[in-house]
Formats: sequence, C-alpha cells, structure tokens
Amino acid sequence: MYPRSFDYIAPASLEDAVRELGNAEFAKVMAGGMSLIPLMKLRLLSPDLVVDIGRIGGLGEIEDTGDHLSIGALVRHRDTASSDVVPTALRQAASWTGDVQVRNRGTTCGAVAHADVAADQPAAVLALGATMVARGPSGIREIPSDEFFVDALTSALAPDEILTEIRIPKRGGGSAYDKLGRRGGHTDYAVAGAAAWVTVSDGAVTDARVALTGVGTKPELARAAMEAIVGTDGSEGAVRAASERATEGITVIEDLYGSVEYKTHLAKVMVRRALTQALTEARS
Ligand SMILES: Cc1cc2nc3c(=O)[nH]c(=O)nc-3n(C[C@H](O)[C@H](O)[C@H](O)COP(=O)(O)OP(=O)(O)OC[C@H]3O[C@@H](n4cnc5c(N)ncnc54)[C@H](O)[C@@H]3O)c2cc1C
Repeated sequence: MYPRSFDYIAPASLEDAVRELGNAEFAKVMAGGMSLIPLMKLRLLSPDLVVDIGRIGGLGEIEDTGDHLSIGALVRHRDTASSDVVPTALRQAASWTGDVQVRNRGTTCGAVAHADVAADQPAAVLALGATMVARGPSGIREIPSDEFFVDALTSALAPDEILTEIRIPKRGGGSAYDKLGRRGGHTDYAVAGAAAWVTVSDGAVTDARVALTGVGTKPELARAAMEAIVGTDGSEGAVRAASERATEGITVIEDLYGSVEYKTHLAKVMVRRALTQALTEARS
C-alpha cells in the first residue's frame, strides 16, 4: 500500500528542522522511519510534511560526560545494543528490538519518542531514570522519564519538538531487561516485559526502579514492586515477594496477545527475572 502524498525535507540543522515542524499544518519527524513509514503506508498516519533529521550532524553519538551518558537522536538500535558504556537494561532492550534491518535503521530516540505500548527501550529508559532532552521553538526542555510517557503512542513531546538526546544518569548498581516477545522468546514486541535497576550496599537493596511494557497503556513504573524490594536483602524470597506486586496500581490491558490474567502473570515473571539479573550485576 502507498502512503498519501506528502512533502519531504531533510534540513541540515536542528534550527531549520524545528522551524519547518512549526510552519506545517501536520508535520512528523522521521529518524529511522521504521515505525513512521509503516504507519504512513497503512494510512493510519498521513502527515503533510515529513522532516527527515537524518542529515543533521552531531546526533549520532553515544557520549560519556562523566555524570551521565548521552544518546543522540540518530544513535541506531544496533549502536545502543553493542555499546560497552550503555547500561545492561537498555543494551538488552535494544538488542531485542525487531530484526537486523530494524536495528540497523531504527533509532533508540525514535523508539522512545514513538512510545509504543509494547516497545522495549522505553521501559529500559524509564527504569534507568533517564531525562529526555527536547529542542523546540523556545529552546531546550528537559523532561524526566517519569513524565515523558503520557498514553498509548503519546509522549510529552510537542508536535514541533525534536528529541535530541536521552541522558542516562550514571548512578552505579546493576540493571536488566527481560520480555516474552509476541513470537516467543525475545522476538518481536513484548507481550510483557520488565526493566529493573538496583543499587546494593552492605548486602541491602538501597534503591530500585522497575518499569513494565506491554502490560498497560504505556510504559509504566511498577511502584509497588520498587517499594517492596528496597530495604530487603535482595534474596530470592524478597525478589519473589516484590514481583508478586508487579501490577499493583497499574491497569492491565487485554490485547490480541494476552488476557488480563495472562499479562498479570507474565508481568510478575518478567519483574522477577529482571530484578534477579539486575541484583546479580549490582553485586558483581
Ligand atoms: C518489522 C518491525 C519489527 C519491530 N519490532 C520491534 C520490537 O520487537 N520492539 C520494539 O520496541 N520496536 C519494534 N519495532 C519498532 C522499531 O523499534 C522502530 O525503529 C522504532 O519504534 C522507531 O524508531 P525510528 O528511528 O525508526 O523512528 P521513526 O519511525 O522515524 O519515527 C517513529 C515516531 O517517532 C517520532 N520520532 C522519531 N524520532 C524522533 C525524534 N528524535 N524527536 C521527535 N520525534 C521523533 C516520529 O515522528 C514518529 O512519530 C519494529 C518495527 C518494525 C518495522
């Protein structure tokens, strides 16, 4: 199927890209095009203008600034997956995003901006407590990950803002991501997935963040599980007790891939696995 006709531009600077987004009636940013183009071909989305950011320089780097890691808007899934500085949860989530072609074209920032309910990397950036850096007509805006995911396919970005960078704080500890993919194992979008980040000191869990994907209407923090694991010894029993609370306070949504009961069960399994792996890394 062909998309409706649209105008296309590939500006050379962020300033030009933001200005073009603001001038058009309905414009969309294109990074890797791995979600945008299929939606346009299915005519679920018909922008008047596509603003391709692929030719803007300086957006393709993963940088270690000392206190945080910066992932630029054109960093591909494959770069995130193969980086030795990116925390395990995000590396893992990127390595299980789609297939080789998708990982070669799609961007980590694009996956986060797209905010699909079952995408992998949004859960990881949420668990890692990242900050999204957006560039718009009035300058730069920092959006904490806790406020970034608003609803299904809806982020806190304004239509004329570009996500230029994801900042991941360097707070030590360990992290992990696990999912059951729609085609089994780790293949395809998550039926349910969980990312966890923990810190451990003197044998006790001192801090934790846990995020779910594929379970509710957006990537969401599993706050009850987070509270339950902090202050414990992180033993198998403590992890099991915390993961039993995985969906407490979250509205679990049935979809084509699972009932509410099945997704609730899977969320507990994924939180248990992610917490166990994150704790192992934090202790190593
Ligand atoms: C066959 C296939 C399998 C897939 N499997 C998975 C999977 O298993 N797990 C998974 O998580 N995802 C999966 N995806 C989606 C994939 O991860 C996409 O690459 C990703 O969702 C979007 O990244 P992109 O750079 O291609 O963004 P695009 O497709 O270019 O854009 C997607 C959306 O985000 C917006 N956007 C992109 N970048 C920015 C930016 N910097 N600032 C503001 N807005 C921006 C666009 O306007 C658009 O609305 C799959 C896709 C395909 C085609």
